[in-house]
Formats: sequence, C-alpha cells, structure tokens
Amino acid sequence: MSSVKIQMVDLQSQYLRIKSEIDEAIQQVLDSTAFIQGPAVKLFSESLATYLNSKAVVPCANGTDALQIALMALGCKPGDEVILPVHTYVATAEVIALLGLTPVFTEVDENTFNIDVKQIESKITDRTFAIVPVHLYGQCADMEPLLEIARRKNIYVIEDVAQALGAVYSFSDGRKLKAGTMGTIGCTSFFPSKNLGCFGDGGAIFTQDVLLAEKIRMIANHGQRIKYHHDIIGVNSRLDTIQAAILNVKLNYLDDYAKRRNAVADYYDRELGSLSFLELPVRAKNSTHVFHQYTLKLKGISREDFKSYLESNGIPSMIYYPVPLHLQKAYQRPEYPEGKFIITERLSQSVISLPIHTEMTEVQLSYICNSIKAYSENGK
Ligand SMILES: *Cc1c(COP(=O)(O)O)cnc(C)c1O
Repeated sequence: MSSVKIQMVDLQSQYLRIKSEIDEAIQQVLDSTAFIQGPAVKLFSESLATYLNSKAVVPCANGTDALQIALMALGCKPGDEVILPVHTYVATAEVIALLGLTPVFTEVDENTFNIDVKQIESKITDRTFAIVPVHLYGQCADMEPLLEIARRKNIYVIEDVAQALGAVYSFSDGRKLKAGTMGTIGCTSFFPSKNLGCFGDGGAIFTQDVLLAEKIRMIANHGQRIKYHHDIIGVNSRLDTIQAAILNVKLNYLDDYAKRRNAVADYYDRELGSLSFLELPVRAKNSTHVFHQYTLKLKGISREDFKSYLESNGIPSMIYYPVPLHLQKAYQRPEYPEGKFIITERLSQSVISLPIHTEMTEVQLSYICNSIKAYSENGK
C-alpha cells in the first residue's frame, strides 16, 4: 500500500476549504428554525436560475423525484412510452416504470456514452410521450438533432442533468445553452458526490415555461398552490432549507469545481494517452465536459485484474454501470434479450472510472498515472 491516500471523491477536503462559509450558512438556518421552505430555498432557486439562464428552477428532494415530477407535470398516462438510453443510472428508468409508462431502451454512442440520436426516430410510435436524454459522465447528449426530432414528432424532452450540471452545449447557429435548459424540462440531483452536491439528498427541476413551472411547484408540494387546497395529485418532495443554504455557498464554486475536474482529466489524458490498453474519454465537439466521471474503456486486458491491481496499490476505481438496464431483473423484457444492445453490453464489461474530484493533488495524480504505466510494463 502506498502512503498517498486516494479517494474516488474527497468530500471532506472540499468541505474544509469552505468550512467557515458553510458552517455559517447552516448555523443561520439552525438559528431561524425555518427548516422547510426557508428563505435559503427561494434564494437558491433564483441563483441557480440565474446561473443556468433558466426561466424557472423548482427545487425538490432528490434527482429521482425531479424526473418523476417532470413526467407527472407533463401529464403522462399509463402505457405511454418514454425513450431513454440503456446505458444510464437506474433512476431514469425507475420513475418511468413506476408511473406505469414503458421504458423504451435505446443504444448509446460508443464514443460519447450518450444516447445514439440516430436510433431515436425508429423507436417513436404513436404512444411515445417523451425522450429522456441523460448527459452521462458530464457532457451533453447531442441535443440539436434530438430536439429537432422531438419538435417534428411533437414529443417532450426531459433532460437528465444529474451528472452534467454546468455543461454547455453549442448549437450550429452559435447559440450556447446550459445542460437542462434545452428540453421541455431539465432535472438534476445534488447527491453529495455530484458536481454540485449538498450534504444529503437534493434535486431540482428547470423549465423555460413559467406555467409549467407553476404546475411542477404544485406537484412537488402535494398538488397545492394554497395550503390545504389540493388541485392536483402531487408528492412530498422539497429541498431542505439546510441543504439549500449549503448549495447557496457551493453554487459560487461550481465553475471552479468544473475547472479543477477538467485539470484532472487533462492530466490523465496527457499521461495515459499512449497506453495501448486504454481508450481515453472522447470529448464531444458540441459540448463542454464537466467530468463528473473520468471513464476509460479497457482494451485487451482483464478489467477485474486491472481493478484489483489498482486496489492493491491504494487506488480506488468504479464501474458505471456493470449491468445494463435491459439485463436488470426488474427491467427485463422479452423484446430486449441479451445481445440486443451490443455497445452498451460491451461498455458494461469494459468501462472503468478513475478517481476525479475537485481536491486532487499533483502527487496523487502522478502516483495514479505512474502505477497505471507500471501495469502496462509488467502487470499484464
Ligand atoms: C444521481 C443520478 C440520478 C438520481 O439522483 P438522486 O438524487 O440520487 O435521486 C438520476 N440520474 C442520473 C444519471 C444520476 O447520475
């Protein structure tokens, strides 16, 4: 074991760097006891709206709820179909199934890991309700052609921004929009390890349609606009005031965090680029990358061996995601047998994510890269 301590994500060091600001923000909430819907929540929704250049931001309890509320607000009906990438976190499919809708899995692009937009149109039927692109690992799905299909077919687009808050997509006419503000609705998560993480669960929903925002706000709060007057069926999904207070501090650092993550990614790119058993992450031409994950594809070596080699050298790594959704017990269907999504199946066997966070040091990075280079010389 090395003396260099490395974590996938170092939340403690990140906290310590801004401890006084965070502690003060939390203390203010404690002093006010406005734990639910306190002023920090409204302030945060306004600040995030400004940051994203979004007309409306509605905070909620977590990213999974955000997706569920988005579908509810758009008036989905049981049996409706929702198109989503098959290579994603389970939450995206889970809420679709939970609402009695049918998840329609779609293959991803081997290079960007995001939904293969060319395959979307053939999935559209007269029951198609929405497309849910997931901006996986930190960069945007190819939104311009996706939005064009959605507009032409008159279906909604719900962006899953849980891994890409702050990423910017460039359209061919020069317009630049932040992830989550391009579709009908954007949904994000403030889970602690996300790029903008709070100290528990949190989420938010964005839209450019102020009437829709009002409905989203009602659904997130028991379907009420006026207390004890329930016009529609809703859920209980609020962002705690303490979490909002923390996020108000951390939002100021989000761009700096993205820079730090990019610096780590650049370092890995530079040091690992020549190793024949690794394929580095591809940066999409029309999106910035906020590197929620730095995900490699392994070529011609055993992932299990490589992962345990890293582990024995004190280097953690993660597999996102080891089992594709169509092969998960809960989501298996006869029309999605093994072999149906070859690219995703191959990715589930070959991807590995290296440590990346805002507090990584040169010492840690050089140690990781040297260890990986040594693997190429004698390990395999
Ligand atoms: C984290 C995540 C979610 C869910 O967010 P929670 O806040 O954990 O509910 C949804 N989609 C993707 C792609 C995620 O990474």
